[in-house]
Amino acid sequence: MKSSAQVVVIGGGVVGASVLYHLTELGWTDVLLVERKELTAGSTWHAAGGMHTLNGDPNVAKLQQYTVGLYREIEQRSGQDCGIHMPGGLMLAGDRERMDWLRMAQARGRYLGMDMEIISAAEAKEMFPLLAEQHFIGALFDPAEGHVDPTGVTRAYAICARQAGAEIYQHTWVSDLRQRPDGTWDVITDSGEIHAEHIVNAGGLWAREVGRMIGLELPVLAMEHMYLITEDMDEVAEYNAATGHELPMGLDFDGENYIRQEGGGMLLGTYEQACVPWSPREAPWTFDQQLLVPDLDRIAPSLEIAFKHYPALADAGIKNVINGPFTFAPDGNPLVGPVPGLRNCWVACAVMAGFSQGGGVGLTLARWMVDGDPGEDIWAMDVARFGSWASLAYTNAKVRENYSRRFRITFPNEELPAGRPLHTTPVYDRLTAHNAVWGAGFGLEHPLWFQRPGEEPREDVTFRRSNAFPVVADECTTVRERVGLTECSNFAKYRVTGPGSAEWLQGLLTNRLPRVGRINLTAALEPGGHIVGEFSVARVGTDDFFLFGSQIAEAHHSRWFLGHLADGVRFQALGLSLVGLSLAGPGARDVLQSVTGVSLATEDYPFMTFRRIDVGMIPAYVGRMTYTGDLGYEIWVAPEYQRALFDLLWQAGQPFGIGLFGFRALMSLRMEKMFGTWFREYRPIYTPAEARMDRSLKLDHDFIGRAAVEAELTRGPARTLGYFDITPDPAEPADVVGDEPIWHDGTVVGWVTSGAYAHYSRRSLAFGYVPSELAVPGTMFEVEIIGQRRPARLLAEPVLDPAGQRMRA
Ligand SMILES: Cc1cc2nc3c(=O)[nH]c(=O)nc-3n(C[C@H](O)[C@H](O)[C@H](O)COP(=O)(O)OP(=O)(O)OC[C@H]3O[C@@H](n4cnc5c(N)ncnc54)[C@H](O)[C@@H]3O)c2cc1C
Repeated sequence: MKSSAQVVVIGGGVVGASVLYHLTELGWTDVLLVERKELTAGSTWHAAGGMHTLNGDPNVAKLQQYTVGLYREIEQRSGQDCGIHMPGGLMLAGDRERMDWLRMAQARGRYLGMDMEIISAAEAKEMFPLLAEQHFIGALFDPAEGHVDPTGVTRAYAICARQAGAEIYQHTWVSDLRQRPDGTWDVITDSGEIHAEHIVNAGGLWAREVGRMIGLELPVLAMEHMYLITEDMDEVAEYNAATGHELPMGLDFDGENYIRQEGGGMLLGTYEQACVPWSPREAPWTFDQQLLVPDLDRIAPSLEIAFKHYPALADAGIKNVINGPFTFAPDGNPLVGPVPGLRNCWVACAVMAGFSQGGGVGLTLARWMVDGDPGEDIWAMDVARFGSWASLAYTNAKVRENYSRRFRITFPNEELPAGRPLHTTPVYDRLTAHNAVWGAGFGLEHPLWFQRPGEEPREDVTFRRSNAFPVVADECTTVRERVGLTECSNFAKYRVTGPGSAEWLQGLLTNRLPRVGRINLTAALEPGGHIVGEFSVARVGTDDFFLFGSQIAEAHHSRWFLGHLADGVRFQALGLSLVGLSLAGPGARDVLQSVTGVSLATEDYPFMTFRRIDVGMIPAYVGRMTYTGDLGYEIWVAPEYQRALFDLLWQAGQPFGIGLFGFRALMSLRMEKMFGTWFREYRPIYTPAEARMDRSLKLDHDFIGRAAVEAELTRGPARTLGYFDITPDPAEPADVVGDEPIWHDGTVVGWVTSGAYAHYSRRSLAFGYVPSELAVPGTMFEVEIIGQRRPARLLAEPVLDPAGQRMRA
């Protein structure tokens, strides 16, 4: 065994093998993989091998497309049969909501170049004669679905990697990991030690235990999963004889099952409600290419539906029942990337769909390691999307919820209840008493809207407009005409201090730094000029700054800043040690002025001021800005003052008609002011020129990515962020939720990033990227909302207060 290597990949399942292969593809050949038993010994060997390209996140869908497309290539290069079958797949809808969902999925697929077709139940029956047509109202057919041989695929990756110089040691168990002061690793195995520059945890069923070797508690949990294989069926043989090909795969959302042909019979898997975690606290190292005891009672309710929906199955003999464990993160997406806070330590785990996602996971992780950047927008898979709140018990609750909802619709306005409320701010009870409807982001509860007194604080989930619609409209009116109060703790807050802080930040941020006492908007870029983050920077001293950014990206952005840290500079994520309330609306100044001795007149406290002042008796940092685009203030305090601050402002606001508003109103208000947001308009796949971040960009200083920005500005961006005024269907109005295709002259030319109904302006608005030559104000487009193409006019400026007079008043 080698005693040193540039990379040691721990785990020889399909994911570890893919990482190894992709590292060699990118030119890193001093790489090796250690596997405690034999390749595929974890969850890989007993997988059903199904694969598909559809995913709720278009960026993950793209990586799934890549994965599915890779198999022929590795099969050919390795000479290893991957058992590729591509019969296509049917997603079956039993009701209108699911049909809407399928239409939206088809629409999302359009701009990814996916060629999927909506068909009737009768057409579905023709393609898949085993189904009982009366239970369905239609289906989506995806020709790019299929299945592979899990062992063949893993071996093919391994053979290609070996051909390029990688080594693989089987029957080699990693028992410990120790980091040296220089950031390299000693990998302790039962066959000796390996000194590695980088380690990759691809430990699959044991990824959590491998993490614990270095003090990490990764949010990953294995669940038991069952599928059965029938004896050969006459119906299958007849279909094969008549058509000359195998049956397409089927996904029955109502029955919570998937089905495909296996030999001369059928394979049926279920995601049952009575789901069971495997080894919830610790996975045994003795588990080795084993299966679990099947429990048909547990899946009996799903089988009952399956036998109704596919009657021929009821009469087929069951040849085999497989019960095996495989892993999930709390949201069902993989955990990939550099572990925050640890040098040269990478993960590629919690991959629940290894045969749809394994290739994309390997590709992006290898790029991240070799090039310093994943090369794609992989936010949905980034290990940094979870924080310390994702504890063992939280993960358990969320993974079970996720598993049991695998085939359920999650509506765009739906907030899933498991593991909540967990992380709350001090005003949580105050806001609950005001009938708040809560949502959660990065684990933290934040108010979405405030139900009317006496009515249940609950939102009807829907793709269209919900019961929140009129209430949020009133909240918007309160802000625009009087004064609104909301909680703004759900921003990420960072403090940067120490000698050299200004110089350090200036080299990272696209805007010039504000003067002391001022705030400005800025972005951070990677060297290729793509957006890494978008922040407000407030300066309280020469070398003393607050940064405000997206809360969900707190760990992600911290990792980036800390990765660039200069000597002497202290970068600190403040978490909930700083919490906030925000006042917005024409009466905001009057309310705040009534509780502070500091003059808030515009000449003394102009727009974009940030100062430490007392509010009542409470020491606070007060920034004159709000995301509503109105006159407003964000008031930041230590958590122990937040309740007193709330009571003070609420009381002081009464004469001015103060009302509470939540996140939904904020999204509506920011849309009519044409304010973009991180994770939707601003993501690592876009550049500041494309995103029109002009006011955050000053080319008077050097910063990471500047050369790329200048080059792009010279040639002009290929696509541009547009702002659209949409005419919804008057009979059944619905607004965009994001990821809808944008049509022009009969072809899909772009996609929506986000949008909302702007209640105060009474417009349905959206942001979306289109080719720059089409981004001409007044141009007509169509946005496809739930299967309907609705007219959309590209606007030049915000629909409300384009000159920005309200916020400067
Ligand atoms: C019943 C069932 C059906 C499934 N069907 C499908 C399907 O149809 N389609 C699909 O895409 N996915 C399916 N899956 C999921 C699929 O199996 C997983 O996504 C995939 O196997 C994950 O691969 P992995 O490499 O991450 O993990 P694993 O396969 O668990 O591999 C991890 C490897 O790491 C090794 N290891 C761990 N710790 C150490 C250590 N300390 N030292 C050395 N080696 C170590 C283990 O021995 C193991 O071989 C199914 C799973 C089950 C259980």
